[in-house]
Amino acid sequence: MSYYIEPAPIKDKENPFESMMFRFDEAARIIGLDDEVYNVLKSPARQVIVSLPVTMDNGKIEVFTGYRVVHSTVLGPSKGGIRYDMDVTLDEVKALAAWMTWKCAVVDIPYGGAKGGIICNPRKMSAGELERLTRAYTSALVDVFGPDRDIPAPDMGTGPREMAWIMDEFSKAQGKTVNAVITGKPLVLGGSLGRTEATGRGVMISAMSAMSKMNMNPIKSTCAIQGFGNVGSHAAILLASRGLKVCGISDHTGAFWNDNGIDVEAAVQYRLENNGLLEGFTGAERISNDELLEAKVDILVPAAIEDVITKNNAHRIKAKLIVEGANGPTGAKADKILYDNEITVVPDILANAGGVTVSYFEWIQNRLGYKWTAERVNRRSDRIMKSAFEKVHQTAVKYDISYRLAAYVIAIQKVADTYRYRGGY
Ligand code: NAD
Repeated sequence: MSYYIEPAPIKDKENPFESMMFRFDEAARIIGLDDEVYNVLKSPARQVIVSLPVTMDNGKIEVFTGYRVVHSTVLGPSKGGIRYDMDVTLDEVKALAAWMTWKCAVVDIPYGGAKGGIICNPRKMSAGELERLTRAYTSALVDVFGPDRDIPAPDMGTGPREMAWIMDEFSKAQGKTVNAVITGKPLVLGGSLGRTEATGRGVMISAMSAMSKMNMNPIKSTCAIQGFGNVGSHAAILLASRGLKVCGISDHTGAFWNDNGIDVEAAVQYRLENNGLLEGFTGAERISNDELLEAKVDILVPAAIEDVITKNNAHRIKAKLIVEGANGPTGAKADKILYDNEITVVPDILANAGGVTVSYFEWIQNRLGYKWTAERVNRRSDRIMKSAFEKVHQTAVKYDISYRLAAYVIAIQKVADTYRYRGGY
């Protein structure tokens, strides 16, 4: 039996790379970036497309397409997750890779940006098929990956299990254990305490920082969260633990609403016992995914996929604050509508940077051959997230621009300055 329900197609989807470039162009104008460096930073350093023949459980060979885009290595080795999804495209991976460059620069960690993806439906594949596909992908990219070159991590449709296969396959090719080649690993393989919840935790810290600037009281605030995977579920738990009332949650099977607040722990437990799905959850009433996005809440956390807040629905958003757990949930055309309606947006490249921050800690621990306590990991990542937020806030005030543009301004300035010092050919 398949539990997978195809999500409804999104109308008028913006091209994610164009959306990213639109913001990049605006920020470049604000800082007066010269044409030469502009051209360097807008072009991905490397784009690799691989064909991956995999023997399926029925004995037939299927050929999958995989991508790895390294956008920039100016600040250090490139870093970025690997996505398994039927909708993966090269343009999407290019946009996600560039966002990783800007994200690492905003939180000031010494990485460039990359992203990978395979066009596949992991929900319809067996563990054996996924393992063979993951190993084939790793083997095809063994010259791209490396702890000092390009360090992958999980993204939509992948998790610690896939990271373990990648680490093992890469290590076999090198003839030695190389656990720093990948982050988001299981704890026993050198994963970091705090990594699983790190992105959701960063979303919570960003939300608390923004609420404090906006004089919003968490105890009196409500929120809705789209997506109940790694990011959404941990953000929900942590926001609820700070006193917020989580009234709406959703996944690709549907959305759920409770005026009195959803018992988030119960929803997490339900999902665990229901093949990772919220479908059938009884602690709330069913609403549509559109209703969830447009609900009357104080805070909206899109934590699922790209381009869900568009020029078509942005004017109906009622939240005062949007904290982007997902990458690229707001299309460039929606930015202006939200800004004009005085809705504060903590952008993806800041709000969800907790994940890459703790990935960086995992890489450091692997290289030191040492383990940090969860308390140390959380304390350090909270400090980085708070300080990045403050810098973005100050830049937004200085130029009288949105938090999104301010984050791009900081990131592009940093990468451009570093590039000028390093120089080209
Ligand atoms: P995940 O696969 O664990 O969860 C994705 C969730 O989104 C699932 O609950 C899925 O059902 C839901 N979803 C998918 N399509 C949907 C739709 N149309 N409507 C509503 N819900 C839908 O993925 P994740 O790791 O939580 O990643 C979510 C987002 O956060 C992605 O944009 C990813 O790039 C971004 N992100 C993840 C991390 C991380 O550490 N995992 C870090 C930074 C950014």
